[in-house]
Amino acid sequence: SKPIIAVVGRPNVGKSTLFNKLIGKRLSIVEDTPGVTRDRIYAECEWLGKTVMLVDTGGIEPKTDDIILAQMRRQAQLAIDSADVIIMVVDLKTGVTATDHDIALMLQKSGKPIVLCVNKCDAPGGLPADFYEFYNLGLGDPVAVSSVHGHGTGDLLDECYRHI
Ligand code: GDP
Ligand code: MG
Repeated sequence: SKPIIAVVGRPNVGKSTLFNKLIGKRLSIVEDTPGVTRDRIYAECEWLGKTVMLVDTGGIEPKTDDIILAQMRRQAQLAIDSADVIIMVVDLKTGVTATDHDIALMLQKSGKPIVLCVNKCDAPGGLPADFYEFYNLGLGDPVAVSSVHGHGTGDLLDECYRHI
């Protein structure tokens, strides 16, 4: 069966935009309102002759009493459990948040390979200064991506493929 790559992170960092860019279709709903993707959404993605199953998730809010956010977190946990590789998406524009730290810890506990994607790196040429703070999450070298423009998505998949 095909390797499974799960896209996780807190709401609004651009997971669904990345997912759509990687599969080359608009399947997952992109919204400015956090929490639009509630269930897991699956699609095949082919890159350099390999086919993988990509999973988009609604986002993780580790500390919440909200029923919908708790349901999204359960769905994300199921995606994490079934994944061979996890892409953790963070947002250059907001920088590292406390929730990012919580999610990074939770993912490290899963013992699965994690690839850190710093999304919204839209400006061409060179890495922005704010990029380096994401090393503080302790997940190794982050990959700079603009899901809107498609920059860095090849590097991101290359990094995922090292683990499968
Ligand atoms: P999700 O909740 O993590 O799935 O995030 P979405 O994919 O729904 O995106 C949330 C918002 O971030 C939307 O307004 C997207 O257009 C925007 N967004 C996503 N990726 C990028 C990017 O690479 N650059 C910029 N500037 N905005 C982005
Ligand atoms: Mg989404």
